[in-house]
Parts: sequence; C-alpha cells; structure tokens
Amino acid sequence: MRVERVRLPAPGPGEVRVTITAAGVCHSDLSMVNGTLAARFPLVLGHEATGVVAEVGPGSRLTVGTPVVLNWAPACRSCWWCRRGEPWLCADTSAPTVPRGETDDGVPLHLTLGLGALAEAVVVPERAVIPIPAGLPPEQAALLGCAVLTGVGAVRNTARVAPGESVAVVGLGGVGLAVLSAARRAGATTILAIDVAEAKRDLALAAGATDFLLSDDRLSKEVRARTESRGVDHAFECVGRAATIRAAWRLTRRGGAVTVVGMGAKDDMVSLGALDIFHSARTLRSSVYGSSDPDREVPVLAAELAAGALDLRVLVSGTIGLEEAPTAFERLARGEGARWVVTLN
Ligand SMILES: [Zn+2]
Ligand SMILES: [Zn+2]
Repeated sequence: MRVERVRLPAPGPGEVRVTITAAGVCHSDLSMVNGTLAARFPLVLGHEATGVVAEVGPGSRLTVGTPVVLNWAPACRSCWWCRRGEPWLCADTSAPTVPRGETDDGVPLHLTLGLGALAEAVVVPERAVIPIPAGLPPEQAALLGCAVLTGVGAVRNTARVAPGESVAVVGLGGVGLAVLSAARRAGATTILAIDVAEAKRDLALAAGATDFLLSDDRLSKEVRARTESRGVDHAFECVGRAATIRAAWRLTRRGGAVTVVGMGAKDDMVSLGALDIFHSARTLRSSVYGSSDPDREVPVLAAELAAGALDLRVLVSGTIGLEEAPTAFERLARGEGARWVVTLN
C-alpha cells in the first residue's frame, strides 16, 4: 500500500468530480488489501467519504460547491429490487468493476466499491453522491456513508430493535460501535458490547453499551446472567467470520434474531445443527448497507448530526493526513481504536 499520484478523467455525462475533505479507513478496504475480498489491482482504496462537488459533467443536476457524502451502492431505480423499494439489493452492480483513471505510467485504475475515496478527488456517477447540509464536521460526516448508515440501518431497518429489548453486538470496529449507539437510541435497555480486545471497553461504554464483555469461554454464561438466562433478543455480528456468526447465534434467545453485518470470506463456512435451527426458532439474516436507501436516509442522519441529535465523536479515533493512511490500516488490522479518518483539502 502506498500513496502515489494518479490521473483522473474529466467528468463525463452524468458524472461529477468531488474534492474529498474527509475519508474513513474502513475494514472493507483492509479486506481488499489482505485478500478476504477479491479485488483487482492497481486499486484505489476508500469508500466512506465526504467532499464538495468541484466540477460537473454535461447534463448534471448538481451544482459546483455542493457538500456531499459518497454512496458506494448507488441504486439504478429501475431494476426489480429498486422498484420494490429495496435499493440496497440493486441488481446493477457494474460500477465497481469499471476502471476509471490511470496511474502516472498509464495503467487503468480499479476503484474500491466504484469510489476510490482515499484520495484528494474522485470522479463518480452523480447518483453516487448525496447532497448534505454545509458546515458539518467532515471527519464525522464522512462516516455517514458507510459505518453509520450500516450500523443505524441494521438496528432500525433490518432488526427493528424495539424499546426495552436486549441487544448484543459482537465486534467493536466502526460499524459495531455505530450499532451500539443506534441500539441505545432505539431504546434497547440491555446493550452488551463484545470484543476480543479489552481495550475496546471504554469506547463501547461511551458509544452506548450497558456492559462490555470479553469474547472468551465465559461469554455465554455472562450474557445469560444479564438476560434472565434466555439470551438476547437481537445479536449483531459485526466481524464477518463464521466463528463470530456462530457466537452471535448462541447468544440469542429462542425466537430471537441474529443480524450479520460483517462482510466475510466466501469460503468461510458457517455450520449450524439442523435440530438447533428448528428448535431455537431463531432468525438469521444479513443487513446489506443497513437495508437502507442512502439517498433518503443519509440526509436524515446529516440533519440529525447538524442538530446535535447524533454525535459521532466517539467513533472518530483521530484525523490523519493521506501519507499516514497506511499506518492507519496497520492500526485497524491490530484492532486499535474506532475509525481513523483521513482529512484533506
Ligand atoms: Zn465501509
Ligand atoms: Zn436497481
């Protein structure tokens, strides 16, 4: 991984150039680098960012100077899923596979999730940008586009956590912490934060957890001790591994729901007993991009951020320059902190 100069094309019809002001270092970028997710190289990392429209292509509805958040799953609005109101499952997934721009010596560039946002600028289809109010703190606004939309959506849209329910969150990276705070805002009264790293304890409690539990041999017992021996109503798996999906499954009560938020590897197989599936009556489902419509929900979250109803400071471990991004990936791999955010321009 290195920082180098690349060439971007001018925005074509329906495209815009966005000057990036802040971009988060997300675990999915790390998964591209370490091979958990398949990627083509050379690859520009980054998919969680905010910036300002700097140039518009012919026919664009956007105006230069508009603050925006980038959307890594822009919906086509015409496929079967989009028409039935599930744009997060849009069938048009062509954007991430189209190279755009080139290296200084002319090799076509691939872009993480069609964005490549850990950069001074991006050129993207205009449907991949969402206007937001001016004046938001960029290091917090950037997180709306991935960690926060994913975390809040998993709680509100996918699991529909109700007041008084109990929640366990397995894996406390940026998304896991966003799930914790969304669960608190949804009125959950028992919110158990679970991680392998004791260092996450203070962050978890600050984000809204009622308890922090280490993921060790005593975990099931500790969870049952806090849920009248039943297990939680909702478990959120925010790692993307078979072992943690199975752990989340075991922590959930009979009839409860397990929501898989983490994006795992295709050959990491989850094994569950057939009798256990029947007898536990649990629901296992995934939450893709928070089962959300980013065009509708990012502006709502941005307004909450502007009004002070949403406070994302706990998610931001620190702001760094682009040159320090490789170091931030090392910290992420070691599980240190919440989100490191690159600030630019
Ligand atoms: Zn992400
Ligand atoms: Zn679609």
